[in-house]
Amino acid sequence: MLELINELWFLKRDIVSDDFDRALYRLAEEIPMTIHEYPTGEACWTWRVPEKWTCHEAYLETLDGRRLIDYADHPLHVVSYSLPFEGRVSRDELLRHLHVHPRLPEAIPFVFKYYERDWGLCASQDLRETLTDETYRVVIRTTFEAGTLKVGEIVIPGQSDQTFMLVAHLCHPAMVNDDMTGVVVGLEAARRLLAGPQPYYTYRLLILPETIGSVAYLSHHEDLIPRMATGLFLEMLGNDAPHALQGSFQPHSQADKCMVSALRGLDPQGYNAAYRTVINNDERQFNAPGVRVPMLSLSQVENEPSPTRPYREYHSSLDTPEVVTQKRLEASLQVALGLIQAWENNQYIVNRFKGEVFCSGYGIWIDYRTNPEGHRRLFEIMERCDGCWTVADIAGELDISFQAVWEIVSLLQEKDLVWLSRTPQPTTPR
Ligand SMILES: [Zn+2]
Repeated sequence: MLELINELWFLKRDIVSDDFDRALYRLAEEIPMTIHEYPTGEACWTWRVPEKWTCHEAYLETLDGRRLIDYADHPLHVVSYSLPFEGRVSRDELLRHLHVHPRLPEAIPFVFKYYERDWGLCASQDLRETLTDETYRVVIRTTFEAGTLKVGEIVIPGQSDQTFMLVAHLCHPAMVNDDMTGVVVGLEAARRLLAGPQPYYTYRLLILPETIGSVAYLSHHEDLIPRMATGLFLEMLGNDAPHALQGSFQPHSQADKCMVSALRGLDPQGYNAAYRTVINNDERQFNAPGVRVPMLSLSQVENEPSPTRPYREYHSSLDTPEVVTQKRLEASLQVALGLIQAWENNQYIVNRFKGEVFCSGYGIWIDYRTNPEGHRRLFEIMERCDGCWTVADIAGELDISFQAVWEIVSLLQEKDLVWLSRTPQPTTPR
């Protein structure tokens, strides 16, 4: 994962650009991928695919030719989708078009103006402080032309066509944690799923430019939407912060109950939060009206009230491979795979028994004198095995981890006391 990041991170991965395509084609060498293309101007519901944008050259100079900012040094020096501009500007005018990071004095900020057209440069606060001349020369040579927006899709066919969507965005020039990390974790998860036994659900991983990529894909695959059972957006998965699981627009969905309770068993430091309260991203398009797929989002975002939320280097030139480690990427991969595993396991528990189980007779009795908590849990869980509760329903009701319920359910299954069903199977004789 870190090798791929090191190879691709510095590319100028603007939403529709040659370098975005380069990165996507490189990833397609790693795993079987279909690349969907949507031409500039194509209608995607209420949106349109933007032009391909290229910055050929851009710099800021003093009038005597001393270069202060150069796009060749760092792609963040130019606002993504900046209009072209060439000329002498007063210091005041320059400062109106020169963006700096609000918090980090030494960083170049990531600024984009995809739809609100203007020209702009970005620099560190440190550099801005040195701008004392009356007049400067600005050169921004950018072009807008017809191109195609590209979405990479990796499919892991399951026994069922009910689908779990995984999504990560590959755009953002020269940045890593947001969101090369989501891309490589998603790719590795897909690779593991392809290599393992066939899953019950079908999985589709989309690697796309943020927002417009999701809208383009969804609006061109409306037939698939009814089969999208749930999904997980992946981003910011390599930095040093607890895992955050953001719920979907439908917090009472099976997907929410399942993944929220599963995170407890996967990262004890992790936390859950409501829809749109951790980070806003592609999951919005899936949760939106007319789509309504309960898609959650997994990230590593500093918990409130951290002043550097989501993370210190966010949307800046300091978001480099140094922010992430292979170990943290591996840990995030395990959390993502653990959430998927819970979703695979989440079924209705149907009792073969009637009445309360004679636990001692089945060798599953837990002594309340030595393990009162275990004793209580066993009975609380068995009590709900009536064909109407899923594993996630029970975990949610008892406020315990999915894995804790699953452990007991597995034991009951082993003793042939219960069976699992993908649909409710009420066993109450009324
Ligand atoms: Zn971002």
